[in-house]
Amino acid sequence: MAGPSIPKTRTRFLEIKCIKCGKERKVFSASNREIKCKGCDEVLVYPSASRAAIQAKVIKVL
Ligand SMILES: [Zn+2]
Repeated sequence: MAGPSIPKTRTRFLEIKCIKCGKERKVFSASNREIKCKGCDEVLVYPSASRAAIQAKVIKVL
């Protein structure tokens, strides 16, 4: 194999809380799809190239 090794993204489950309505849910930190709040339909996690962008309060790392 050639080239520098790319560190693997650490993937894990997070417990997050919607800033808008306060509903909690568990999400995968490396999600490659949008995750919406089940309470208010706000987008909580946006997919990105390396790591999902979380637009909610992270309560716990599971
Ligand atoms: Zn919500």
